[in-house]
Amino acid sequence: MSRPESLSPLFASLHSIKGVGDKLAALLTRYFGAPEGQEAIALDILMHMPSGVVDRRRQVGIAEAYLNQIVTLKLHIDRHQLPPRGRPQVPHRVFAHDETGDVSLVYFGSQGGWVEKLLPVGEERFVSGKIDFFNGEKQITHPDYVVEADKFATLPLVEPVYPLTQGLSSKALAKLVRQVLDGLPALPEWIAADTMAQRKWPSFGEAMRAVHIPDNPEEAQLWAPARMRLAYDEYLAGQITLQLIRSTMVAARGIARSFTGEITERVTHALPFSLTEGQQAAVDEIRADLASPDRMSRLLQGDVGAGKTVVALMAMAAMAESGAQSAMMAPTELLAAQHFKTLKPLCDQAGLGCELLTGKMPAAERRAKLAGIASGKTTVVVGTHALFQSGVEFHNLGLTVVDEQHRFGVHQRLALSDKGKHTDLLVMTATPIPRTLVLTHFGDMAVSVLREKPRGRQPIDTAVLSIGDYYRVISRLRTRLDEGAQAFWVCPLVEESEHLEVVAAEDRFAELQKVFGDQVALVHGRMSAAAKQEVMQRFAANELKLLVATTVIEVGVDVPNASIMIIEHAERFGLAQLHQLRGRVGRGSQRSACLLLYKDPLSETAKARLETIKSTEDGFEIAEKDLELRGQGDVLGTRQSGMPGYRLAVPDVHRHLLDYAHDEAKDLLRRNPGLSGPDGEAARMLLYLFRKDLAIPLIRAG
Ligand code: ADP
Ligand code: MG
Repeated sequence: MSRPESLSPLFASLHSIKGVGDKLAALLTRYFGAPEGQEAIALDILMHMPSGVVDRRRQVGIAEAYLNQIVTLKLHIDRHQLPPRGRPQVPHRVFAHDETGDVSLVYFGSQGGWVEKLLPVGEERFVSGKIDFFNGEKQITHPDYVVEADKFATLPLVEPVYPLTQGLSSKALAKLVRQVLDGLPALPEWIAADTMAQRKWPSFGEAMRAVHIPDNPEEAQLWAPARMRLAYDEYLAGQITLQLIRSTMVAARGIARSFTGEITERVTHALPFSLTEGQQAAVDEIRADLASPDRMSRLLQGDVGAGKTVVALMAMAAMAESGAQSAMMAPTELLAAQHFKTLKPLCDQAGLGCELLTGKMPAAERRAKLAGIASGKTTVVVGTHALFQSGVEFHNLGLTVVDEQHRFGVHQRLALSDKGKHTDLLVMTATPIPRTLVLTHFGDMAVSVLREKPRGRQPIDTAVLSIGDYYRVISRLRTRLDEGAQAFWVCPLVEESEHLEVVAAEDRFAELQKVFGDQVALVHGRMSAAAKQEVMQRFAANELKLLVATTVIEVGVDVPNASIMIIEHAERFGLAQLHQLRGRVGRGSQRSACLLLYKDPLSETAKARLETIKSTEDGFEIAEKDLELRGQGDVLGTRQSGMPGYRLAVPDVHRHLLDYAHDEAKDLLRRNPGLSGPDGEAARMLLYLFRKDLAIPLIRAG
């Protein structure tokens, strides 16, 4: 079944919305964090929640308007005072009054006479904004709204505010939201009638209106029925998806594997270290799963650097002993290459055929590799999700390892297609999440956790410094590099523009090149995969001492000799991301350092983030702190944290609804596994709305 026609307006391109051109569409796409290569759609605008509400209902006389209050005044405009010639830094001042007093309206940099037109002398206007004081006089600097006396109704007395990004105002976004709301189709109800009645929840459409165009501030609160309902919808869509994945997984029986132990022994022998207790325990759990007649569905959770790859290798070795192949799927080609580099020599020593399959290799090479995979000569195949999409035929695929890194979510698993779906499954994730969340987000997968880092690891010395200390940092860095150390220099994240991000990195690179010459190289997201790889390889081979990078290095770079991580503008990064970046060092036996360079002024939460990173290396602790610090609407933090990307639900407020959604989803699929009939239709609608369309084919036929 394809997407219901009635939803088309929501799935329309942003260009279908009045006022959205190429530039704004691109900005919104980045802002909403649309999946790689895809454009945001109208639905994304609807799903973007306000972070708060501005209450302009205080309509008082000037005399009763106090400092920092947001008020709406009815003013008589008296006179304009323009900045003196040649002194544009002096503001344009408009004097006005009402029966109770005087106020001035202040505009900086207002050329062109538009202020005169907006506020004609002798007329009345409604003006809304925040009261401040200058020389003891009340004023409003850049009023938010000025409307004519007869257009009062157009003034939003209760105004939602959206988390902002450069180039996009809350007002502009509100306009777009209204358009999308106007085109919102009537939807069937997917929540049971008694739940709706009991919780006094509005319909989906009403709820969206209440949060985006509230009549009063209470209506839009996180704990108001409207937002509760929407949070529940989001949880429910996620839970139905997980249940669908789960039921397809268990639907097929597995094979009880038996092992000779031979290959495992050869791999163990080839390893330059012995497994930690945690690794060994995980390997034992996996082997028990493989030996049982049920299919394995296991999550291997472990912080960056915890040593998950070796555990996966042991699983693949066991699988090989039982005569079957394994596929390891990484989220990016770079990561796939990295895994291959780790696995290949070990596999060679153990006599296991191991190949890397990427989308970009020459046709002849690809053909040869495909032949090896089809004949069974290749036992371990490493690649991206393309492994399961193109014409790859496995001889006998028994195990699929999915490395999700931080792309926390089910998308990759949904991409497995039939080839991968019927194999045993091991999912690796580096996102440290509390166990309760694991259960609800991964369905009922079994979990192995690697809590400790491999022995011999040194703690990382983390310091927080102002960018004002730049020259001290440089001279210290020079000493360390002369002593043989290697360092990463991560450049500021520029949320609104990848282009600016690259520019910033290039500037820093040019600066550092003056000091370090050809010991330093640059790598960023706009470079071709091949160019990136070449730089990484030179760094890994110690031909480069200093690697200037944008956040592309975040995932999967393993250079044990690199022992210094410098993060510039650390205040712009989310907690989880800082943690991941720091995890790039401290992988070898030498003592490592992480330097967090910030630029003043630091916000309270940014300060708390930096202090958290400084005080602990425990990913679980950091994850919990992250949940605590992340205010609602902090899109940046949410997206970077690696946590499931909730847009409507705020776990701190709505978590209790998750259990309920879990039970309801389970119940629904037990009653109606084919999602047929009216309530099935409604549930499918919900899945589409929350972009779970990949789950639709998993619904069991009738
Ligand atoms: P993860 O994928 O969990 O982030 P990796 O598997 O990449 O971590 O391992 C990180 C580093 O630790 C690698 O260099 C790996 O060789 C090393 N390592 C893994 N297990 C051990 C161990 N038991 N003892 C020492 N080093 C180990
Ligand atoms: Mg890894």
